[in-house]
Amino acid sequence: MPTRSSFADIHIPNVDLWGLMFEQPRDFSDSQVIYRSVDATRQYTWKDVREAATAFGGGLRNLWDWQKGDVLNIFAPNDVDFAAIVYGVFYAGGIVSPANPAYSAEELSFQLTNSGSKAIVTTTDFLATALKAAKQSNIPQDRVILLGNGRDASHGIKHWTSIRKTSGSSRYLGRKMDSDKDLAFLVYSSGTTGLPKGVMLSHRNIVADVLMVKGAVGKWYSSGRDKILGVLPFFHIYGLTGLVHQPLHRGIELVVMPAFNLEVFLRAIEEHKITFIYVAPPVIVRLARDKVVDRYDLSSIRMITSGAAPLTRELVDALHKRLDIKINQAYGLSETSPMTHTQPWDEWYSSVGSVGKMFPNMTAKYISPDGQEVGPGETGELYLSGPNIFKGYWKNEMATKDAMTPDGYFKTGDVGYQDQDHNFYITDRVKELIKYKGFQVAPAELEGKLMDHPGINDVAVIGVNDEQQHTEVPRAYVVAAEGKTTKQDAEEIVTWFAGKVANHKRLRGGVRFIDEIPKSAAGKILRRVLKEKAKQEDAPK
Ligand code: AMP
Repeated sequence: MPTRSSFADIHIPNVDLWGLMFEQPRDFSDSQVIYRSVDATRQYTWKDVREAATAFGGGLRNLWDWQKGDVLNIFAPNDVDFAAIVYGVFYAGGIVSPANPAYSAEELSFQLTNSGSKAIVTTTDFLATALKAAKQSNIPQDRVILLGNGRDASHGIKHWTSIRKTSGSSRYLGRKMDSDKDLAFLVYSSGTTGLPKGVMLSHRNIVADVLMVKGAVGKWYSSGRDKILGVLPFFHIYGLTGLVHQPLHRGIELVVMPAFNLEVFLRAIEEHKITFIYVAPPVIVRLARDKVVDRYDLSSIRMITSGAAPLTRELVDALHKRLDIKINQAYGLSETSPMTHTQPWDEWYSSVGSVGKMFPNMTAKYISPDGQEVGPGETGELYLSGPNIFKGYWKNEMATKDAMTPDGYFKTGDVGYQDQDHNFYITDRVKELIKYKGFQVAPAELEGKLMDHPGINDVAVIGVNDEQQHTEVPRAYVVAAEGKTTKQDAEEIVTWFAGKVANHKRLRGGVRFIDEIPKSAAGKILRRVLKEKAKQEDAPK
């Protein structure tokens, strides 16, 4: 029997994100600061976001003839301008596709072409890569624009604030947005298998998830009382829903950090008196271990929520013992908009190790490897249904079909069980996906690129555990060409590969030579066999 959420269902109004943020009753004022830069030099109130988004959205329509469904790519680190740009695109009826600014031009170009992006917003630091990728994807140079503080002197690149219309613009198609069908985001995820794919998230998906987070844990933090630190990347859906949309909906100030730097992070907590932070587990590792932490007053923190990758009880204990800070877990996926589970704040320790309770309006079931549904308490692959489940993979019906059951459940590829108190535990992953510090690494993508190396005849990439850093790292098992199997050959491949991919995809787990890649009769890589091999190789001798 499927399990319903232990929370009562909540009402999800039939509005798009613009409607939810700007046309629904609020319990905070127009002048509430929502986004403040960490150096406190720039800020947006709720009203500022609405005004800037209206002007930008009007500009997109009038100056660039933006049509409903047109895609804008944001290739940038976190910035206070982010929400105004995202909502400007929504105002014009468009879709946002955010990309990791660590991407190479080739990686970005793949996403631009696949999503059919019409324009790119970036910062001066990432302009050269954006221009190269734009060229590769046939996006004209005047469709590359800047956000943030920097201005461009050499290429004649405009700032996003120059794409604006300040009078007479009414909302694109007004009420004709269909929140259930019209997409808000195309975020990229490899899903269970294969190359990164566009995850189609509708307005209703995100509206639902924002309200479901509120329904599950919203009572623990509020406007006026709390301040959130915006360190998770906005280009990932965890950052988008948790840090871009949620503060705007709840009227809670978000202090925006462009990238993680431990000292800036600690100083921000002390200076801004931060009360609540979303992080991925590697940040917890730093907080639990680094000496520099002792120099800062972190007593304002009421809760740190960790998600995107597994968090161990040992780490929770280590941080709590050191700093008396409470840490709870959240869980979710790009395909679930993203959050589906979190530990209630008052149960952070009574259910430590668990990812918490399933959000309202959701149903779960567990499936054994032979396809049978197993009861709560037994271990199986977690299947989920609810209003936050994505609309499918962009232009990839086959992958969409594989990811869903005929009765509308999404197959998470994660394995776990549920206890009698409705706490969910994630114990394993049956999908290929590797997570390096919360960032996705798709083995198929790495394998494709590695095959370009002349010394490689065949290759398979798996994730292995780096116990020290509490993360998985990618390792390549290589069938070498021409007997090149020395330590130097392995190192040469690692270095060559590092020059081709974003930092998080580097082969930190090394290259190991192997005579043959284990494969099924159908030619599918038997990753479990390699994982076992890796375990033996890495076991203390
Ligand atoms: P993404 O689509 O990048 O958000 O990645 C989703 C995947 O991250 C999930 O399918 C899990 O494998 C993993 N994940 C997210 N949160 C957690 C968590 N709290 N514990 C364990 N794994 C997690």
